[in-house]
Amino acid sequence: MPRKPIIAGNWKLNKTVKEAVEFTEGLKKVICNINRAILPEVVIAPVFTSLYSVNEIIKGSNCIKLSAQNCYWESSGAFTGEVAVDMLKEVGCSYIIIGHSERRQYFCESDEMINKKAKAILASGVTPIICCGETLEQREAGQTDSHIKSQIEAALKDISEEDISKSVIAYEPIWAIGTGKTCDSVEANRVIKMIRETVKTIAGDNAANAIRILYGGSVKPSTIEEQMSQSDIDGALVGGASLTVESFAGIIDGCMKVKA
Ligand code: PEP
Repeated sequence: MPRKPIIAGNWKLNKTVKEAVEFTEGLKKVICNINRAILPEVVIAPVFTSLYSVNEIIKGSNCIKLSAQNCYWESSGAFTGEVAVDMLKEVGCSYIIIGHSERRQYFCESDEMINKKAKAILASGVTPIICCGETLEQREAGQTDSHIKSQIEAALKDISEEDISKSVIAYEPIWAIGTGKTCDSVEANRVIKMIRETVKTIAGDNAANAIRILYGGSVKPSTIEEQMSQSDIDGALVGGASLTVESFAGIIDGCMKVKA
């Protein structure tokens, strides 16, 4: 069965509640009358404070899904400042991004923490979007594949084949995030194929064929068609270009041109 593409927008630390609501109403007008059979899964990841209000606009429409940008693995207790998976589910999140390079870099998230988050997310029936990617130094030192392989093996440790097949991975070379430099599509596809092989070794053929693997790193309306034309790229995780309806809708449109 072909894998349903995903176009996910990671808003990072951007947009007030008012701005998030305006964006969501605008996006809904542009995409919600498109035939669901050709529309990719469209996911937006606002900051925590906007999740409830954004969900009020999209719930029931089945054309835009909601993601959080992070979570904690415990369900309650003395963990000041953290948010539990079930709390995010309660406000409509069906996806949670974990292991983004900014969280690894600025908030010291380790592979072990990402594995705990992935397990907690899957136990609640939510889908993790697990990010991985190499630095420029690692790429130049020829360590891209070994680094990513070890990130994936650690993130998926002790997770069942069934849960792995429902998960989403985003390959995001760190040097391409927010820099305007996209990774060459053929190279991105090669790394994504390598990730799929790694998943096959861990969880078997079915999981490797089912898991959706996205590319992220300066994706724009002008790059998406070439990226989506690659055999193993199942969609995009988009930062900067997901912040206006015009550019995000342009990416969704480009995806449909190739995959519909
Ligand atoms: C991201 O934050 O996941 C990302 C890929 O950002 P950008 O599209 O701005 O490079």
